Amino acid sequence: MDLWQAATASLFSLWKSIGMALPLFCIGVTLSQIGILKKHGVLLKKSLGQHILIDDNIADKIVNALDLRRDDGVFEIGPGLGALTQRIAGRVKHVVAVEIDSRLAKILETLTADAGNVDIINKNVLKVDPAEVISSYGARRWKIVGNLPYYITSAIIMNIVDARERFSDAVITVQEEFARRMVAAPGSKDYSSLSICIQYRFKPEVLFAIKPTSFFPRPDVRSAVVRLRVSERPTLDVRDEGLFFQTIRAAFGQRRKTLKRSLRQIPGLTPEHMGELGRISGVGLDNRPEDLSLEQFAFLSNAIKSVVG
Ligand code: SAM
Repeated sequence: MDLWQAATASLFSLWKSIGMALPLFCIGVTLSQIGILKKHGVLLKKSLGQHILIDDNIADKIVNALDLRRDDGVFEIGPGLGALTQRIAGRVKHVVAVEIDSRLAKILETLTADAGNVDIINKNVLKVDPAEVISSYGARRWKIVGNLPYYITSAIIMNIVDARERFSDAVITVQEEFARRMVAAPGSKDYSSLSICIQYRFKPEVLFAIKPTSFFPRPDVRSAVVRLRVSERPTLDVRDEGLFFQTIRAAFGQRRKTLKRSLRQIPGLTPEHMGELGRISGVGLDNRPEDLSLEQFAFLSNAIKSVVG
């Protein structure tokens, strides 16, 4: 480690220990993303989950995972200073990127002006309907990409779920622990209502992990890149989607309890119904929710529909 790196590292740890933005313009940094911050005197905001990607290899791997075609459109969440945006712009028809921080949005607008196919929308992505935004552009196939701000990962995922019909897939960076929960199988400690919600609509796949050192400043957690491929049609026979998710919420809301007990929360379902419910669904109600596959949850919610109408 040379003197400059040592100085930079100690400033990073000072930043972390005092939990404040670091005035980057006072460091002699050479990494390009950090160089841009320094040039514009921008202080990153921890409150907005601003950890910018400074590892070119990882940026290339994420963009390659998108498997882009020239006539594609890409919707990017939280582009920051464009570590991904600039790489993507040269390979597709349109990039639409939603960035909440007006300082970063302005800089990125300048950086991507020559590309001619990048639109930066300076808004909170949670207030934007991705399907509506892309509807005015000409690309045939759309993909989502983003190194997500971790403080709102779940809400962004729900946005992606709602907009899924207009997209072929999403390649997103999330906390490693969140990635594990998305792909978890029944019986594992990571299996949760999130796993079911995701696996019902997508084929999720963890592509690779990212070390904290690939970001500036370093996050406290490890990250992972996940691909969510939209399932073309639901593979399960679910008669009432609302009731399916209500069943899952009731079951995982009291994870330690057997289904016989936790399902009593569903309006109209009484302890007297449990025998019939077990018989029609073929699911043992002495199980706990983590023991059930997606298919068994479908059987269960279809049976609840028959029992309570
Ligand atoms: N994509 C950039 C990169 O990889 O270097 C930045 C990633 S950083 C983890 C997350 C980005 O999301 C930041 O640029 C942050 O300002 C932005 N962001 C945070 N909250 C947001 C929101 N609600 N809507 C849109 N962007 C948001």
